[in-house]
Amino acid sequence: MNGGMRTGGLAAVFAHPDDESFGSAGALALAHDAGRATRLLLATRGESGNAEGVPDDELGATREDEMRCAAGKIGLDEVTVLEGYADGSVADAPFDQLVSEIGLWLADRRPDAVITFGPHGVTGHPDHVVIGSATRWAVEQLAERGVGPHAVYVVSPVFLPGGERFDLSAEEQGATHRVDITAVAGRKMAALECHASQPDAAELLADLRAALDQFGELFEGYTRVRPVVQAPHPEFDTRLV
Ligand SMILES: [Zn+2]
Repeated sequence: MNGGMRTGGLAAVFAHPDDESFGSAGALALAHDAGRATRLLLATRGESGNAEGVPDDELGATREDEMRCAAGKIGLDEVTVLEGYADGSVADAPFDQLVSEIGLWLADRRPDAVITFGPHGVTGHPDHVVIGSATRWAVEQLAERGVGPHAVYVVSPVFLPGGERFDLSAEEQGATHRVDITAVAGRKMAALECHASQPDAAELLADLRAALDQFGELFEGYTRVRPVVQAPHPEFDTRLV
């Protein structure tokens, strides 16, 4: 246990800088504004996030700076990047070790709720898939010791404008939670703007701007995967914590 560290709140566990802004900037910003601790754990610095997919230390440093810029816009209290995992090759690392490192990070912070990737990682990126699986294994182990979070959510892109739909799992195609992020839409867009090295971020930003202009509201979708019991009403739940 880290002495004096504020526990509880909402934690996101993802693979790369920018995953947090694509997936969960809105929900994290809302949790921050509600006075909850907000945290991000990433497996890598995203050092291979160039057109060639070739590792580049300078790009890793740039992307870490971009992520810290985004963290400031969102209102994250803490950001941690694991050591020793290569962008693009997280699945090649020993899975048990990844589970254990995520578990230790969560055990120290005791978040009330955890967000991660679902089985297809939204885009199918193998790093996304493995970080989601490892996070969920880590939660199962913590829960056996009675120190698990109350809820685990996976990112569901069903409310994303732009219409790009990858080969999604059922968990990602559906959503139990429809979080209205309109009030913090500007901060999600500012966070995406921080990721200037990533053309995808600019694309989503344009889509979000267009959707906000057209509909006047924006949502993030999540599927609660733990516990799996659904809410006793047909509407979406609207809050993660
Ligand atoms: Zn990613």
